[in-house]
Amino acid sequence: MNTNQQTDKQARARFEDFYQRSINDRDAFWAEQAELIAWQQKPTQICDYSNPPFARWFVGGTTNLCHNAVDRHLAARGDQKALIAISTETNTEKTYTYRELHAEVNRMAAALQALGVETGDRVQIYMPMIAEAAFAMLACVRLGAIHSVVFGGFASGALASRIDDAQPKVIVSADAGSRGGRVVAYKPLLDEALKQSSHQPAAVLMVNRGLADMPMRAGRDHDWAALRALHSEAAVDCVWVESTHPSYTLYTSGTTGNPKGVQRDTGGYTVALASSMPHIFDAQAGQTFFCTSDIGWVVGHSYIIYAPLIAGMATVMYEGLPIRPDPGVWWSIVEKYQVTHMFSAPTAIRVLKKHDADYLNRYDISSLKALWLAGEPLDEPTAAWISGAISKPIIDNYWQTETGWPIMTLCNGIAPQATRFGSPGKAVYGYNVKLIDDATGEELSTPNQKGVLAIEGPLPPGCMQTVWRDDARFVNTYWKSIPGRMVYSTFDWGVRDEDGYYFILGRTDDVINVAGHRLGTREIEESISAHPQIAEVAVVGVADTLKGQTALAFAIVRDASAVADEAACKALEADVMKLVDSRLGAVARPSRVIFVSALPKTRSGKLLRRALQAVAEGRDPGDLSTMEDPAALAQVQQRL
Ligand code: ATP
Ligand code: MG
Repeated sequence: MNTNQQTDKQARARFEDFYQRSINDRDAFWAEQAELIAWQQKPTQICDYSNPPFARWFVGGTTNLCHNAVDRHLAARGDQKALIAISTETNTEKTYTYRELHAEVNRMAAALQALGVETGDRVQIYMPMIAEAAFAMLACVRLGAIHSVVFGGFASGALASRIDDAQPKVIVSADAGSRGGRVVAYKPLLDEALKQSSHQPAAVLMVNRGLADMPMRAGRDHDWAALRALHSEAAVDCVWVESTHPSYTLYTSGTTGNPKGVQRDTGGYTVALASSMPHIFDAQAGQTFFCTSDIGWVVGHSYIIYAPLIAGMATVMYEGLPIRPDPGVWWSIVEKYQVTHMFSAPTAIRVLKKHDADYLNRYDISSLKALWLAGEPLDEPTAAWISGAISKPIIDNYWQTETGWPIMTLCNGIAPQATRFGSPGKAVYGYNVKLIDDATGEELSTPNQKGVLAIEGPLPPGCMQTVWRDDARFVNTYWKSIPGRMVYSTFDWGVRDEDGYYFILGRTDDVINVAGHRLGTREIEESISAHPQIAEVAVVGVADTLKGQTALAFAIVRDASAVADEAACKALEADVMKLVDSRLGAVARPSRVIFVSALPKTRSGKLLRRALQAVAEGRDPGDLSTMEDPAALAQVQQRL
């Protein structure tokens, strides 16, 4: 065995031990992790699981998320970079040190207080990716107010339903966002939403970027610039809250149906994020984290805002596309700011993959340690492409809005040597992951059996406490879906190999049952995307009188000339079918491969298979409030 292999082996053993301790000696393990954060009062009990499935972490402890993210760093690194706000839409860049960030957050907290916000009140944040959005989030948790960020640019209907659910005292918004050079005015969307919602906030705080008209309603709407000036010297103390005090609510992406309002605690979340930085990401104070997500999603909450700041790092907040002004823009940021950690999503990499890989090689990215990807299955061809293009470790991350931080990945210590493309790796410490037979509720322990991915309670710190204002929905949705067993269902379908690596095969809703064989959509998609002509593909099961269901594939080709006429389409379709036959067997072969130029996705870039399926079966596609581009679905309808 050479030295490398030996270190690798030691690292794996250490990781295995770390994981086992988190499960078998849970409270001692998390008591140690809790030392990573600042408490005003230390917890007296690590985990109260006397009322399952509700877990209460770090009971008796009092802390503050903003203190841990900002104030705590002032003494040691007040003049270090904290927030780097870059917009390739407005061509602006601004860096805030921890001291400057602290001052801005204090001004925002004072403004919110002046508008009546108190501990426990909700504040809705409907903002583009600008620094003020981060100030607003941090100001809320500073006051112990509960923020509820709604993805900027969501249509009025989606915003109205979230306003009614969160019942905010104040809404913070901006005149406009911008995407690909197109300005989207937010204020008219917000005003329309407020017409539709039955709840009305006491005040609306508007940030004016000077991009669009922003009609103000006297008495209700306030201008941030004016309030900021009024509170320029403000000092607002952090409100020490119970560990179990909610820090925020956030809706899931709505890929499978009605979005669920996830409620997160304070102490557990702070500890989970603090611990994830050294133990998952190998990250330290003084380094720079660049997460390309949006603050409207959970990845943005955890890894644009909170975790990097808790760790004392600089964090990059980016407004813009990955390909504007050109597909090298993200890597120019890596060079300029010496980014050490980058976090993105497979969907963004697929966008880059449509362009010349040379763009990615124009910059010196030697500061970068690795690229983590999450949000959707990372197919092998995409992983291999980006790995070749940037020559850095590519690490898949599997998690959910509900969990707040990764359920599966290869943690610091075993990544990247052990990466296997197509798999997010192994269960992360704290998560007692099980594969369950959804018909019998039995645990599947033999390798390579397919089942539902589930987590044995209690969920680790940082995960959802409940569904906002709906404990019954929390219990019934997540903990009662598997017969005879109270486990948390991820509603994802997966398999584990001999070495303990998991593979996500698709969502349980999407499993296709062809003549008694159950297939994950992901399995079929992966085999199709291995075809050199295919850029992107979505597979859904559609009702079939003979077989129960058949697979139907919608594919985007790399080069449009490959599907220029009917004969070419037929030839490529036959070729793709042959490939599926050879990789998975004829049972998985799609009944048709339909070529389209775009696929319906959520705003967070996830394939809306349920909408494709409904349209293919001639049904109403249901709630499409989170859909990105309605034209894509219309095109599918037309091609069918
Ligand atoms: P909803 O729950 O409202 O239908 P959603 O599940 O898409 O929406 P999110 O919480 O944003 O909302 O997404 C989590 C889901 O995304 C996971 O359950 C899984 O299906 C998928 N996912 C996330 N990361 C990965 C990954 N690395 N590999 C495979 N799938 C992933
Ligand atoms: Mg989900």
